[in-house]
Amino acid sequence: MLDLRGDPIELTAALVDIPSESRDEARIADEVEAALREQTTGFEIVRTGNTVLARTNRGLPSRVILAGHLDTVPIADNVPSRRVDGELHGCGTSDMKSGDAVFLHLAATVDDPAHDITLVMYDCEEIEASANSLGRIERELPDWLHADVAILGEPSGGYIEAGCQGTLRVVVTAGGTRAHSARSWLGDNAIHKLGAVLDRLSKYQARSVDIDGCVYREGLSAVRIDGGVAGNVIPDAASVTINFRFAPDRSIEQAGQHVRDVLDGLDVQIEQTDAASGALPGLTKPAAAALVEAAGGQVRAKYGWTDVARFAALGVPAVNFGPGDPNLAHRVDERVEVGQITAATEMLRRYLTPLTPRLA
Ligand SMILES: [Zn+2]
Repeated sequence: MLDLRGDPIELTAALVDIPSESRDEARIADEVEAALREQTTGFEIVRTGNTVLARTNRGLPSRVILAGHLDTVPIADNVPSRRVDGELHGCGTSDMKSGDAVFLHLAATVDDPAHDITLVMYDCEEIEASANSLGRIERELPDWLHADVAILGEPSGGYIEAGCQGTLRVVVTAGGTRAHSARSWLGDNAIHKLGAVLDRLSKYQARSVDIDGCVYREGLSAVRIDGGVAGNVIPDAASVTINFRFAPDRSIEQAGQHVRDVLDGLDVQIEQTDAASGALPGLTKPAAAALVEAAGGQVRAKYGWTDVARFAALGVPAVNFGPGDPNLAHRVDERVEVGQITAATEMLRRYLTPLTPRLA
């Protein structure tokens, strides 16, 4: 059985040694559930699919969600784990079984927490968003996602990573008139018209915005270009796809309007194809502010879109905080510095433990 009370470094290794590629999490969920039932006290435990939920119901003034996915990307000949010098190597060591181990260890060893704790050990995070079981829990067991702050144990190198940027894509299409390129003056070249679009993009000055101490750096980039009919034809259509990564102080509507403003006056059609809103860091709320303090103020913005945004959409301030370097996730040589596992455990233990012991 997994030993939740022992060293979380050993627990990380034990979790890595249970293969758990997405959609194949039954065994790891069984092991996590059994260990929680046997080695924790005061937790209400629910198993749903291959997700294991556990929470205290002490009536404390605030509640903290500790959420970690149990699945990994496909194993690449990197399981079982290996310890080499100060690093633990293997699939899931940083993304994110070290984070899971820290949470499970704290659930089993913090006896008198300052906040009620909800542990969410979920499946199918590494595949399409519609399979992610956080979405299912939100629909079927919504009260399990109520909290004052949610901590996702994704690798963040010891920083609190808060909020996330939004993303929006538009396809900008120019029209024209086809003609034989030997008599080009009879045509109207759509590809040439995109030159003005690309010119606006290359001159664009992206904003950097500070929100709650996190600096978000925006980007407006051409990510694809399509056009052309044949080697001897003036093209009558061409398009460029633009991706706008925007700070969470803009809504999707405002971000879309901004892109249209940047391209204002050009002879093109603009069609928005997809968008996802960002998430404000929300670090000024008390339970979140205490977390930042416990981390010694080490806060930075999260750029990519993560499950943090799901919680933000539910009105729960959410952060990523976990051992490991996010740049090593999903790599064949994935590994974690074991010192970061210990440091993350100590930091969260400070946060979860009251400053002065409560009187019995
Ligand atoms: Zn992850």
